[in-house]
Amino acid sequence: MRTTRWGHIAACLFAAAVLLLPSAVLAGQAKNIILMIGDGMGPSHFGAAWLYSTKLLGKELRMVEVMKSGRTAYIANDTADSMVTESAAAATQIACGLKVPARAVGMGPDGKTPFKTLLEIAKDKGMATGLVTTSGITDATPASFSAHVEHRSDEFSVAVQEIQLGVDVLQGGRKQFFLPEAAGGVRKDGKNVIDEARAAGYTVVGTASELQQAGEQKLLGLYNMGNMAYEIDRAKTAEPSLAQMTGKTLEILSKNPKGFFAMIEGGRIDHAAHRNDAPGTIRDTLAFDEAVGVALDFQKRNPDTLLIVTADHDTAGMSLIGHSKDSKEYVGMDLEQIQKAQGSFEVMQSELGRNPTPEKIKDVVKKYLAIEITDDEAKTVAADTIYKLDPKNYGYPTLHTLAFVLRPYLGVGWGSGTHTASPLMAFGSGPGSEVVVGFLHNTQLFGIMKTAMGAAQ
Ligand SMILES: [Zn+2]
Repeated sequence: MRTTRWGHIAACLFAAAVLLLPSAVLAGQAKNIILMIGDGMGPSHFGAAWLYSTKLLGKELRMVEVMKSGRTAYIANDTADSMVTESAAAATQIACGLKVPARAVGMGPDGKTPFKTLLEIAKDKGMATGLVTTSGITDATPASFSAHVEHRSDEFSVAVQEIQLGVDVLQGGRKQFFLPEAAGGVRKDGKNVIDEARAAGYTVVGTASELQQAGEQKLLGLYNMGNMAYEIDRAKTAEPSLAQMTGKTLEILSKNPKGFFAMIEGGRIDHAAHRNDAPGTIRDTLAFDEAVGVALDFQKRNPDTLLIVTADHDTAGMSLIGHSKDSKEYVGMDLEQIQKAQGSFEVMQSELGRNPTPEKIKDVVKKYLAIEITDDEAKTVAADTIYKLDPKNYGYPTLHTLAFVLRPYLGVGWGSGTHTASPLMAFGSGPGSEVVVGFLHNTQLFGIMKTAMGAAQ
């Protein structure tokens, strides 16, 4: 009878323990975790890329393949101090699992106290770690996983902290924060962080071909003094694609028998959307999708990998409007016209300069977008009414009024030039993705990945 009583007690204790555990603990454990963030990739950015890819290019998005093979959730992303987030708070909430204020990086709710990040937890477990972005590697999203600074603009400290932490793979732009002024950078402290990285065992590369030839040691890839090129401008550079950076990162990190954590960001979707640049936004979203495909192929070869794809916030309320200049029915985007674009709005703006004339605007729009706007439309762009009416929400001279004039040509409108509070999507496949369902807050992604990692809650 004694055995039965103890058996009964044990069964009760087990049942109680199961009831007390968060549901995520019951989900699978993963050896490797790949988190992919489309910066600024709201639902319509995804939708525009899906329509472009399926209707014009004739192929399904790899992101859709992830959704079909795994689970999908809506994601809310409000912060400790706002319903509209920016990248530092959004990434810190994902990296640390709690609501934080704007601009602080890797800090707790007071914005001042360093909080342990998912990447640091992975490192403590002996896992390899990697960060990749097409923006700056010191920019808010990668920084929030690897550094602790009170304001995201302190990218000087972020560069030093990323190397000191020993993140195994770091790839992106903003090399300027690694170099002293004397060597062409912007550091005033005289430090050469690239030299420090080499001394710490990093291979340092600066082009796509150097990346391809790099071995499997720790890697620092810095491909541009500023941000890396937009995908639409990249062919004119020696920079690797996000997919190429992703492939090399997974190759290096997967050598660790204890597994790895990687965060891979499509950083310039956000920048194109801020400028209301529809062709640029779609092209960078497609480049992100190609990188998701690389990660998904890895996940298929290594099923003990959790892949989660999400965004940090929606940028600019991209709107896939219905009518063209002369349509009586809903027709949607002019995909062929969008495909003709030859450069980003940022490149167009630098060619337009300040206060461009209507003639100059007509020439530049024709050169880069293959669209002949009317004289009246060119005058409207030169008057720059939208920028003047609401400069806090539309921060780029000329471009937002141009984007408004282009609405019936491209079939794309914009609600703003800034971030919005739109809910996002998160989707994943592999062990641990079972709980990426329903309606979640971005802070919950931390717990889902931490649990999959096998780290104690
Ligand atoms: Zn942004």
